[in-house]
Amino acid sequence: MLSIVSTPIGNLGDITLRALETLKKCDGIVCEDTRVTGQLLKLLDLPKKELLSCHGYSNPRKVDDIVRRLVEGQNLVLVSDAGTPGISDPGYALVSRARAERIPIEVIPGPAAFLAALSASGLPINRFVYLGFLPMKKGRQTLLHSFKDEERTIVFYESVHRIEKTINELAEALKDQPDRHVVIARELTKMHEEVISTTVAGLPETATSMVKKGEFVVIIGAV
Ligand code: SAM
Repeated sequence: MLSIVSTPIGNLGDITLRALETLKKCDGIVCEDTRVTGQLLKLLDLPKKELLSCHGYSNPRKVDDIVRRLVEGQNLVLVSDAGTPGISDPGYALVSRARAERIPIEVIPGPAAFLAALSASGLPINRFVYLGFLPMKKGRQTLLHSFKDEERTIVFYESVHRIEKTINELAEALKDQPDRHVVIARELTKMHEEVISTTVAGLPETATSMVKKGEFVVIIGAV
């Protein structure tokens, strides 16, 4: 059995009862960074487990080895460093191979930063489009300008290194829609959690004044 388990995005208290139970009884854990997952087990007071590192840059033979273990009947858990596996994180390759091999799969849902940000945003979220991280170069400007016509709420991830640049680029790309709502969520579920509600017109000021530390989700209201 392959169990796909979501883990907290900052606050340890967000681990679910099913996640705890599954991590406790599994034979091994497939993770991104063995140090991060080892530390999580320690903080949650869970028994040590074999940690199998498997990330985006892993040799495909790693996936073969994990699939072989699953076929032999091992109960393995898939986690990422934080949040939901496969959401702007590794996981897809293994889950897709496991499905092709008809290995039983269960999902233990839990935190994902974009969902937490959307529900805290105060914007209409019945229809939204999740873009993960924006492309850094090719297609970036075309994508930013396409937001002008997007009728659904847009949500994407941004790193601390690019948040200021991205906010300023958004202000420029959407300058004809100054009243459009923008929400920037920072450090959700952590001590310095902050949700900034502004508009396109307010973005340059936000870019200057906001604390540029931690992890960010950006949300743009529908046209
Ligand atoms: N798998 C994760 C999930 O389910 O949300 C996302 C992993 S992705 C590599 C990491 C990005 O998610 C960060 O750069 C940031 O944009 C966003 N993120 C993760 N934790 C966050 C938090 N506590 N507050 C705000 N954004 C967060």
